[in-house]
Amino acid sequence: MLDNILKILYLAGFFAGSIIRVIYTAPNRKNKIADDQETVLGKLLMTLSSLGLMIIPFFYLLSSRLDFADYHLPTWAALPAGIAGVAIFAFALWLLWRSHADLGRNWLPMLQIREEHTLITQGVYRYIRHPMYAAHWVWGIAQALLLQNWIAGLSMLVFLAPVYLFRASREERILIEHFGEEYRSYMNRTGRLIPKR
Ligand code: SAH
Repeated sequence: MLDNILKILYLAGFFAGSIIRVIYTAPNRKNKIADDQETVLGKLLMTLSSLGLMIIPFFYLLSSRLDFADYHLPTWAALPAGIAGVAIFAFALWLLWRSHADLGRNWLPMLQIREEHTLITQGVYRYIRHPMYAAHWVWGIAQALLLQNWIAGLSMLVFLAPVYLFRASREERILIEHFGEEYRSYMNRTGRLIPKR
């Protein structure tokens, strides 16, 4: 019973996240790219990450093929885990929304710089350099708490790790190339995923 409620709440969060993405992707289609440093491996890892974000969880929800990997928490732990999952998912969606809103037209899904690209250091970017990637990590934790299945629950975290490890430092190098000292001093003030004390 609780398992099914958590699956429905996961789906509600997934669709809310998809709406945020669609709203902010549409205007950015008009962006003119000034510098494209995306690689084949980067694109491949991004494509594979949709397995963890969408394909594996939906395969789990729509078929019974992955049910062999279900786990059942003891009664005392199931409800707190579910409540934590919902709260954490809500935080992930808030962070996804705020990072899109703050980055605005400077958001590009690939490692690119647009014409008229500006460096954003305000809003959630004032505290951390990668709030959008942080939102995906937090989403992955929520998914693990809401989908109580070893494969579907952990799939987001498993596929996100290589994308994050591959991209974050490359992205920072590109931003240093373009914004120089301004980005370096921004790096000194901020953490990557967790605010600097
Ligand atoms: N790593 C950031 C942004 C992810 S979107 C985050 O997790 O929030 C990736 C795009 O954002 C890249 O094209 C990069 O050029 C751009 N970008 C990253 N940080 C930026 C910043 N502080 N200001 C402007 N653009 C930024």
